[in-house]
Amino acid sequence: MNKDLETIIALQKLDSAARDAERRLAEEPEREKALEGRLEAARLSVALAKEHVAENQNARRAIEKDVAVHQGRLSKFRETAMAVKTNQEYHAVQKEIGFAQGEIKSLEDRILEYMVEADELTAAMKRAEAALAAEQKAADADRRAMSTESQSLRASLEKIATERAELVRSLDSGVLQMFEMIARKRNGIAVAEARNGICSVCHVRLRPQVFNTVLKNEAIVQCDSCNRILFFIPSAAPATPDSVSQPTQ
Ligand SMILES: [Zn+2]
Repeated sequence: MNKDLETIIALQKLDSAARDAERRLAEEPEREKALEGRLEAARLSVALAKEHVAENQNARRAIEKDVAVHQGRLSKFRETAMAVKTNQEYHAVQKEIGFAQGEIKSLEDRILEYMVEADELTAAMKRAEAALAAEQKAADADRRAMSTESQSLRASLEKIATERAELVRSLDSGVLQMFEMIARKRNGIAVAEARNGICSVCHVRLRPQVFNTVLKNEAIVQCDSCNRILFFIPSAAPATPDSVSQPTQ
């Protein structure tokens, strides 16, 4: 294979790996934001659940105060009942006692309802707290993984830079210039495998003469359509059914 062609194929691999690493690193703030968003949602659920429990308690306490008021009145009526002189007075005070008892009964029913609801709300709060704890644990693990990944990405970027510098040193400067110009114009991909007579990146069919030259891998040949530098990978096992069904043109 042409030495420069071999070098730019290796260069492309390094550049693509570097781009992937840089893209992954650039995603970190987004990933951190998503992570914090999930944590915030879990915190909010806990806060809301606590608020519901507190509202329930306050409502219940307010009713308990009402019960106390009615009980106070009830005992006064009962004292009055002991001291009444006439039948009419007795009936009147009995009526008040009945009314107060009815009020207390209905308030106590509502307290019971609040107590049942309190059990549900407390359970919901505990579930929300458990979900937050799980989310916090997952976030901690994600952050640790992200930091490890980031370190290894930075290390591999440094390694790539060293290897790239070495490759560039051995490369013909004209070919390097061509490679870098195409990479700039073509989204970072300056080389393309020619497969079955087609440029595998832009999918345009190559002229037979061009493809025949590319097959030899002995010259720097560009795709007529996307200008990428073409190379050919000889099939490792030409007799497989797969390659028979896709004959080279
Ligand atoms: Zn092409």
